[in-house]
Amino acid sequence: MEKLALIIPQPCIDWNAGELRSAPCLSNPRRRDRFYKVDCPQCKTPRWLRKHDAKKGSVCSNCQRSAAGARGYAAMLQKHGRERTLEAIQQRERLHPSQPEFLTRLYLHELGYRPVCQVRFNCWLIDLVIDNHAIEVNGYWHQRTRQDRDRQLAQLWHGPILFLDADRIINDPISTKIALLAFLTGEKIQ
Ligand SMILES: [Zn+2]
Repeated sequence: MEKLALIIPQPCIDWNAGELRSAPCLSNPRRRDRFYKVDCPQCKTPRWLRKHDAKKGSVCSNCQRSAAGARGYAAMLQKHGRERTLEAIQQRERLHPSQPEFLTRLYLHELGYRPVCQVRFNCWLIDLVIDNHAIEVNGYWHQRTRQDRDRQLAQLWHGPILFLDADRIINDPISTKIALLAFLTGEKIQ
């Protein structure tokens, strides 16, 4: 089983820059507590944490989920083998796409395209395929851990591939749609 070794530097926290923020509880809905701004040591997303939590230096919930997902995948692979693992992931991702992938499907539909989702290719699943055009939605974790996979995929896939950044999909729908349209029509769009 592949071991996921993560060396995470402890965040540097300014203990003088705490802020009183609302922290309601059942007995006191108007309770306030001091929070500190701490960047996730993994993805650098800032979060507001209590001192106790800030000191732990743990990663954010998104990074935790990604790491748990990777561990779950390794365990599944060992138990069920590659075929059944890929089938299970294919089904799950089709039904429960990530937010950026869901948005990309939506944009494609708006542009009049009907993509096939989670297409099996060699030992991979490609997020979206239209004819021979492949579209991969890459989140932060993907960019960090799967660059080799993207390179191999780009070499073997029999058509053009577009790698889309998850942040861009979420934050800039218009430029994403323009990029999709340019990619699918092969035309430069102003
Ligand atoms: Zn994170």
